Amino acid sequence: MRLPPGVNSKDFSNALNQFAVAVGKEWVFTSDEDVDLYRDSYSPVWNEPEEPIPSAAVAPDSVEQVQAVVRIANEYKIPLWTISTGKNLGYGGSAPLLGGSVVLDLKRMDRVLEINEKDHYALLEPGVSYFDLYRYIQERKLNVWIDPPDPGWGSPVGNSLERGGGYTPMHDHFDAVCGLEVVLPSGEVMRTGMGALPGAKTWQQYKYGFGPYVTPIFSQSSLGIVTKMGIWLLPPPEVYLSATVMVWKHLDLIPLIEIFGELQNSGIIRGTTSLASPFWLGAPNPEFDSMRASGSVKPLEEYAERKNIAYWSLPITFYGPAEVVAAQWKYAKEKFSSIPGVTFQEGPSYRFPLSAEDLAKIQDTVPLGIPSLQIFTLLPPGSQGHIGFSPIIPMSGEAVLEAMALFDRVHHELSSGRAALAVLTSFPRALVIIDLFPVERNVERNRQRREIYRRLIKESAARGWGEYRTHTTFMGDISNTYSFNNHVLRRFHETIKDAVDPNGILSPGKCGIWPKRMRKAEA
Ligand code: ADP
Repeated sequence: MRLPPGVNSKDFSNALNQFAVAVGKEWVFTSDEDVDLYRDSYSPVWNEPEEPIPSAAVAPDSVEQVQAVVRIANEYKIPLWTISTGKNLGYGGSAPLLGGSVVLDLKRMDRVLEINEKDHYALLEPGVSYFDLYRYIQERKLNVWIDPPDPGWGSPVGNSLERGGGYTPMHDHFDAVCGLEVVLPSGEVMRTGMGALPGAKTWQQYKYGFGPYVTPIFSQSSLGIVTKMGIWLLPPPEVYLSATVMVWKHLDLIPLIEIFGELQNSGIIRGTTSLASPFWLGAPNPEFDSMRASGSVKPLEEYAERKNIAYWSLPITFYGPAEVVAAQWKYAKEKFSSIPGVTFQEGPSYRFPLSAEDLAKIQDTVPLGIPSLQIFTLLPPGSQGHIGFSPIIPMSGEAVLEAMALFDRVHHELSSGRAALAVLTSFPRALVIIDLFPVERNVERNRQRREIYRRLIKESAARGWGEYRTHTTFMGDISNTYSFNNHVLRRFHETIKDAVDPNGILSPGKCGIWPKRMRKAEA
């Protein structure tokens, strides 16, 4: 049996026995067969010595059971790694950052505690998946929309804590969080925001409560175990309209993004989108790659014109009352029309509620608040999965062009390939550029990709770009880049970590923050 680091087998077996008393024997998993299910199937270090494989998993069913597990972990100094549904693929899946940790699996805590149709919020336990929540709402015909991320089998709790995103106007998932219940590393239960007021009437309606606002310190964090989360939902819009803005010259990207940013910051465009270009974004295309090799964009612009294929296109979406959406779209067209030659394509658009028949015809339901697993059809053939290098860059065409050139150069230098990029508008006032790396069951190729990934981290940081979220393998590297004033932010995180988790039992190493007893001399 694997052991948690620094824990002897006698203590570990005592702890496991006590876990079994707390949660029931059948909910403590120690066999290789069971523990293997908690490996990260998208791991970029699969089957290498550094792959972090857990020692066991324990699955409580209530807040009291979580508290009991935390108290036992404190007694024996056992590192716990919390997951809600454990579907965080691309970022570590169900696997811990530190090998030998015990996975604290909250999937059994899957109760929808409240849905409020008037104030549009939900109060959820961590094991509720987006599919569960959607079904719950549909079965009761409740008048609210949810905002799922691309694959809908994960949880609102896990995805929001990790600051994931979706497509509707509620796409910034952590921004939609209102009120947490957290089991602290001491085993005490705390409620944030208005929840600190016994009998509060607005725990899920008003975020801040009183005094320093601490809800966000439990996001991408190892300071507590979230056992309840309030999230804001969307009133169902009357209509959804999607349209594509198409421009034809390389440098048209600059006004395209500038106008988009202004429309987004004005609240006119509220859904998220992803920039497209057959020449620069998405899977590499050998024909365009050789045209790009000339160093001039002229051949690409001529190709676009000849074949009537937009050089850049930006799908945009509108949600709301029919008249408002029509006016917003008209206004957006006026704004984009300042770009010479711009063209527009409308559709699809829908009026709600949709009949079952109409719904069945829709391919991509995620922007309509309906969870799906369709994204998995996009995995490159032959790959086991993918991870993404995803820095936040300024919302400007110049930044996109600079990042594309940098990523391509790094790929070319280290592998002679080129980057497969996506540019998303998931957050206000900044863009996310994602370099998708396939993950294979091939140690050599995974190593080469890790080298590229690490070079990109350094080169991006040198330009002032940092990742918003990363796979556990790279959390230390990313944390190293957030180094202003001799790593004062990390030292601040460590001070809080040591104060609230003196035994260092919760998610050691998460986002580069180690408890004192495991902290190495830092770079
Ligand atoms: P998903 O919703 O995609 O299934 P996971 O359950 O895999 O998400 O969680 C993603 C990450 O979020 C975990 O690795 C962990 O660091 C953090 N996390 C998930 N659930 C909790 C929770 N209830 N409390 C604290 N952190 C959590």
